[in-house]
Parts: sequence; structure tokens; C-alpha cells
Amino acid sequence: MQVPLLDLKAQYATIKEEVLAKINQVLDSQRCIGGPMVEELECAIAGVCNCKYAIGVSSGTDALVNSLMSLGIGEGDEVITTPFTFFATAGSIARVGAVPVFVDIDPVTYNINPAIIEAAITKKTKAVMPVHLFGQMADMDPIMQIAGQASLAVIEDAAQAISATYKGKKAGQIGTCGCFSFFPSKNLGGIGDGGMIVTNDEQLYHRLFIMRNHGMEPKYYHKYIGGNFRLDPIQAAALLVKLPHLDDWSEGRRKNAAYYDKKFKGSVVQTPVISDDCVSIYNQYVIRLPRRDEVVKHLQANGIGCDIYYPVPMHLQECFAYLGQGVGTCPEAEKAAKEVMALPVYPELTDAMQDHVVDTILDFLS
Ligand SMILES: *Cc1c(COP(=O)(O)O)cnc(C)c1O
Repeated sequence: MQVPLLDLKAQYATIKEEVLAKINQVLDSQRCIGGPMVEELECAIAGVCNCKYAIGVSSGTDALVNSLMSLGIGEGDEVITTPFTFFATAGSIARVGAVPVFVDIDPVTYNINPAIIEAAITKKTKAVMPVHLFGQMADMDPIMQIAGQASLAVIEDAAQAISATYKGKKAGQIGTCGCFSFFPSKNLGGIGDGGMIVTNDEQLYHRLFIMRNHGMEPKYYHKYIGGNFRLDPIQAAALLVKLPHLDDWSEGRRKNAAYYDKKFKGSVVQTPVISDDCVSIYNQYVIRLPRRDEVVKHLQANGIGCDIYYPVPMHLQECFAYLGQGVGTCPEAEKAAKEVMALPVYPELTDAMQDHVVDTILDFLS
């Protein structure tokens, strides 16, 4: 039995006609940049996140870059973040000229450990960028408290956590702003690249809005040095069709996660731990187990999709060697990188497929 890590074809088949019709509206209008489709999606995502404002952007990465630029973060500034994340988190900080400062993770949730953030704050620190990894929000209350005391901005990297909650609040709602990605493998995926920034800060919204389009206001007068961070209306069209299904699809993932949890119970496989404060959207179902690398090879050889998120923590990436945060500076992230792997958890997965995944792992380990 073949079990892919993610299968987007089954989902697309259920919405194909609607997506094509909506894209046709964009094509017939020939409003190929910006326009009503993008604005409609911005309104809808602001609603989902309980935020006043939303800005469509070209990717999750550009959501982060635009947020940093609009908050005036750049050369000589430091931004505290987690080393256990996708590259874009740290890459965006470095790309605006600031210094990523990596603080270790909580070994249970894999999110940034708030208890050690304070010790990393210096006179140069301007922001904290927590990541809501695998669909579970970081422990935001202590993060907001520490950031508030030190007057730091909080940029939520919510790329993997759209509509996830922490104490009833939505991802993106708590920080200064929240950044989302519509990369096709995210819970709300486009048909190409796309992203969104949400905020409740009117002044920041205005800056994000201008910065998205070359810092231009009015036309051909450039107040800031911005970029082209615009969201394509064809992406907005597809996302508008998908958005009403988001909660059902995430519920499907939670159901599959619960099924795995039950099947792995009592085994050596450590299943994801979701805090009582959180509802996860399970962008990934990540287990921790002995002989990880052998299990990955065995699953791949048996037609079962799996992957490692992430094999090398950011502080040990070659491109960040100049930061001088070497081996041993984030031991929990380093350990997790050697022991975790992600299993298929997409909503269309069947019980039989999940049984096969679990049996293949447990047979191999026994
Ligand atoms: C996917 C992702 C991003 C980047 O999003 P893109 O849309 O691919 O640019 C940033 N941070 C995290 C944690 C992600 O998972």
C-alpha cells in the first residue's frame, strides 16, 4: 500500500469546478494585480484571525520580511527566535540586516522556551519571533509578558498554524502582527506561493500596506524602501474557495492525529503533546522515536511518505556559522533534530492507511 506524506489531488477533486470558475472571474476581469479578490480574502482572513486588518502578500517569507521592514527592524538590531523551524523564519531576520538570536526549545512542544528568552535580551533586541510549529501555538502569555516589559515587538510566525488557538485566541491575534503562508502544503494552501499578515495595529497596517508596494504613497512618491510583496488575485481566488473548508480539513487532521495517538499508545513512539491551552491544526504529525534514520529509510522503501522537520537546527546551518552560535548552544533543538519525524496526517487519509503506517513502524522496531 502506497501512503504519500501529502496528497492534494483528492482534495482538489472536491472543489475543482469552483476553483476554475473563480479563477475565470479573475481572468475575465483582467484585474491581474490586486483588486476585489485580494481584498475579499484579506477581509475573510482578518475575520478568521479575529484581527482588524489583514494584508495579502506574495509568500509566508515575504510576510515575515515585510513585518520586520515595517517595524523598522534592520542593521544592528537583534531578533530572538527559535532554531527549530523552517529556514524562512531566521532567513527573513538576516535578510533585513538584523541578527537572529536563537533561544532553545521546550523539548515537549518543540516551540520556543519562554523561560530562557529574557536572558537573551540585550540593548539591541527589537523583537521576538515565536513560531507556532507543526500547528500548535507557542506559549504566548509569558512571551507577551517578557516582550511587553522590554518594549519588544512580537512577530508570530504562524505559517503552520492558521486558525490554531491558544487560550481561545487565534494564531496571529496575540502578537504585534502574525504571518501566514499559503504554500500548498500548509493547511490553507494556494495553487502557488502566497501569504498574509494580520494585525490590530492601524499604524502598522498602513506601513505594511505601503511597504508591500515599494513603499509608495501616493503613486510614484516613495516614503520608504519597500518591495514587491503583492498577493496574486489568482491565488486569492483559489484560497477563497478553499477557506470555507479550512476548519473541516483541520478537524480531519485532528481526527487522524487522535487515531495515531491511540495506535501508538504503550509503544516506544512518542506522539505529539498538545498543551491544554492549545488547539492544534496538525500541519504536521511529528513523532519522536529510537532509530529514527533507519525508520525513515524503511518507510520510504515501503512506499510510505515521511520527512524530517527539521534535520538541522538553524544555529547549526552553514549560512549562519558567522553568528557563532555553535553546537551545544541549543541542546534540546539539537536533540529533537536527531529524533523526530513527520507522518502523513492529511484529512483524506483512511484508517487502513494509518494502520499500515503504524504497523510498518512498530514491526520494524520490535
Ligand atoms: C512555510 C513556512 C514559512 C515560509 O512560507 P513560504 O510561503 O514558503 O514563504 C515560514 N515559516 C514557517 C515556520 C513555515 O513553515
